[in-house]
Amino acid sequence: MAAARSAAERREDLIALYRRLKDCHDCPLKASRTKLVFGAGNADAEVMFVGEAPGAQEDLQGLPFVGRAGQLLNELLGEIGLSRDEVFVANVLKCRPPGNRDPLPDEIAECEPHLMEQIRLIQPKVICTLGNFATKLLSGQPTGITRCCGRPQYREIAGLEVVLYPLFHPAAALRTPATKERLREDMSRLPQLIEEQRPKQEAALADAADSEPEPAPQLDLFA
Ligand code: URA
Repeated sequence: MAAARSAAERREDLIALYRRLKDCHDCPLKASRTKLVFGAGNADAEVMFVGEAPGAQEDLQGLPFVGRAGQLLNELLGEIGLSRDEVFVANVLKCRPPGNRDPLPDEIAECEPHLMEQIRLIQPKVICTLGNFATKLLSGQPTGITRCCGRPQYREIAGLEVVLYPLFHPAAALRTPATKERLREDMSRLPQLIEEQRPKQEAALADAADSEPEPAPQLDLFA
């Protein structure tokens, strides 16, 4: 379980991670991107949304989910009484693949540690994976989104006990009305999932803090 650190300390570390990553050269997507899209929102969010990769608008603005799919996400969040300021939104890839092609396995592997570090620092109670790429990466399972959407999975991710909640990607929902209805229905259960997970995760974090080793006694080097 992740060590107990204050929200202010975790936020500072998240900002430091952003500063380290914003000029990342670790994969070839550096050559075609305009801006790295780190993610945005509340650094102490109870819910994190993880999409696939930035699209054209996101690449230009350096912010996640600002295009049409993002507008739908905002609308559905509003319906359950949440705003973008209360959640954290990130992606599997931090840089746009050219022409919005699918992320490649090497790109996912290169970027995964950054997403894991974000999860470790934000300590969300629920992680909503949007679409196949995020769901397969964070569940570690090959099951496609159509078979697992709306079914909460209780997992340890980045050292944290979380609910992984797979959802259809909003871009797919924009294409198919039935998918949009299913996404809306699944999102409507999110407040209850957060409520249920809150005491469980807080207890696990408190246990982890209690079992942290005592600091080693100071040796008197001048004795
Ligand atoms: N689609 C994604 O998966 N992520 C974004 O940030 C925008 C669109």
